[in-house]
Amino acid sequence: MRLFGTNGVRGIVNEDLTAEVALKLGKAIGLFFKGSVATASDTRTSGGMIKSATMSGLMSVGVDVTDLGVTPTPSMQYYVGTHEVAGGVMITASHNPSQFNGIKCVDSTGRELTREDEEKIEQFYFRERTELSKWDSVGVIRQDGSATESYVNAVVKRVDADAIRNARLTVILDCANGAACTSAPLLLSKLGVRAITLNANPQGDFPGHPSEPTEENLKDIMSLVASTKADLGIAHDGDADRTSFISNDGKFVSGDKSLSLLAKYILSENKGTVVTPVSSSSMVEDVVRSSGGAIKYTAVGSPAVAKEMFESKAVFGGEENGGLIFPEHQLCRDGAMAAAKMLELIVKEGKLSEQVKKLPEYHIEKRKIDCPNKIKDELLRSLRDENKDIEADTTDGLKLMFADGWVLVRPSGTEPKFRIYSESKDEKVAKQRANEMESNAEKIAERLMRR
Ligand code: MG
Repeated sequence: MRLFGTNGVRGIVNEDLTAEVALKLGKAIGLFFKGSVATASDTRTSGGMIKSATMSGLMSVGVDVTDLGVTPTPSMQYYVGTHEVAGGVMITASHNPSQFNGIKCVDSTGRELTREDEEKIEQFYFRERTELSKWDSVGVIRQDGSATESYVNAVVKRVDADAIRNARLTVILDCANGAACTSAPLLLSKLGVRAITLNANPQGDFPGHPSEPTEENLKDIMSLVASTKADLGIAHDGDADRTSFISNDGKFVSGDKSLSLLAKYILSENKGTVVTPVSSSSMVEDVVRSSGGAIKYTAVGSPAVAKEMFESKAVFGGEENGGLIFPEHQLCRDGAMAAAKMLELIVKEGKLSEQVKKLPEYHIEKRKIDCPNKIKDELLRSLRDENKDIEADTTDGLKLMFADGWVLVRPSGTEPKFRIYSESKDEKVAKQRANEMESNAEKIAERLMRR
């Protein structure tokens, strides 16, 4: 049975994810890592309960725990990568609503675990009996409150902090009541930025807005950037690994756009490969190629992107949801690095609104269709057969490549659904292809279910 989804174990607290599950998973994680482990959580109300249970499980099999308290996921990852620990455990459900929580693990370098390693943890989890440590060799807890500041200091060193300080920027910062409350105001103060903060009190029921930094959730910061004539708006998700930006004219900048602009900026100094999932806009590829870089596509999800970046020694990578990875700092989505690098970018290259205008324009249509997990493979095969004359990429699902755009159909890793993405420079074409694919896939699903 599978426990881990694309981003760790997630569920509704006290329905799917109980203290008992966390305890048992803690034991399994401890048996896998065998050495000391760092733990941390975001601000969710259930964080204390889930983390305590996980820590108890870890210690019951002899693993010592260093608890970092509330800190962003990338801060925990940075701590793990720079300290002598066997791994790290983060208690977070990232951008999910506040009734959710989750448990995710990173290896001793701070990188997300591979699927093979997650399977090993699952085997320990589903084993009938667990050998507990003898009473005199159970693990102990140590607190270490230094993670957030060390992480922020390391990020400051990775950018031209003097140039940012001298520019005397004004920034509106939305911490989404999440883990960013501990790190993002500190980062901006160290960079000499005048920050006006929104939702900067840590509060795990997310009273400000849902914790995903999408355009619908960020209306307050958008209007505040416009009315105060700020230089930039920065918004994080619940565990502050993702960052969304608002340009100085109060407009939401999509993740594809910030990824493209930062890729161009990074490539101007350091030519190399940029890695992104197949669901990203062709805008990214256009910009990367015209900036003298190479592009590599992966399956959807940051672990796949980070893995490919490691293998191809990429200079930059990221996802269209605002998860950006800066390999010179660490190979994971890094909210504070994204914010700091964007500040450097506007200081060096000018207003974000002007830079966005220069990007190639694409239209993307997104759809979802229901499809039971057991027929997902067959549905994909049928679609592949029906379209066998069209050039296709099968890195993740099926991506049909047309002269003026593409359509991607991919099975959701967490739900009995397919996601459809259709992109073209022509909005009508994008819509029409999305509609066609939606009705075609639905028809095939019905036929497969009737058999
Ligand atoms: Mg997140």
